[in-house]
Amino acid sequence: MIMQTLTDPRSILPRLLFQPVAVDDSGKEIDPAIERAGRRWPSLHPALEVAAELARADSIYEAPAEARELALARLPAEQRFHAISPTPSGLACSCNDWPPTTNAGPGDGRYCADILAYLLALYLQRPLSPLPFTAEELWQTALEELRLQMTRAAFNQWLLGSFAIPEASTPLSLTVAVRNQYAQEWLAHRLHPLIARALRTVAGYEVSVHFITS
Ligand SMILES: [Zn+2]
Repeated sequence: MIMQTLTDPRSILPRLLFQPVAVDDSGKEIDPAIERAGRRWPSLHPALEVAAELARADSIYEAPAEARELALARLPAEQRFHAISPTPSGLACSCNDWPPTTNAGPGDGRYCADILAYLLALYLQRPLSPLPFTAEELWQTALEELRLQMTRAAFNQWLLGSFAIPEASTPLSLTVAVRNQYAQEWLAHRLHPLIARALRTVAGYEVSVHFITS
């Protein structure tokens, strides 16, 4: 239990990053915290600026409780989310900036703006935002994307009328009901790469999906 607390990056990294010198709790504001971290790790400076923007906009979202991911980040102007997940030595992110080409900062030194923003939110003790869409909304948006990529006949045959089952789905893992077993097998085997790519485009992170007959 103690080992787990000591090695959980969420318990030590926020302090190491944003409070490298002893300061009292009145220092728990975004700008001074970013400034302290930037002074100590100058190469993190650009990512820290973006992290401050994410924190100011409350753009760190809570991942579903049962997910492997810890949080999702999204700049207000962007559609896509980046998923932050634990690794054996720190945190990983689904964005293109991770892993960084050079390591800097405490722990394993692999930080992007999203991870820094998540750790900043923990440091500032700001509540994470609830995800702004449901699993069903995510599936419906992906369907619109797939409609553009498939012939009308194929779309109608395999996907028309499909829906995510709310009680068996989260925005990270969908259970989708389709019309019959033939469609279920075709989607799972032939169309899975296309569907996985559409979901990733819409969500910005890997969404697992499996199909059942309705
Ligand atoms: Zn990232």
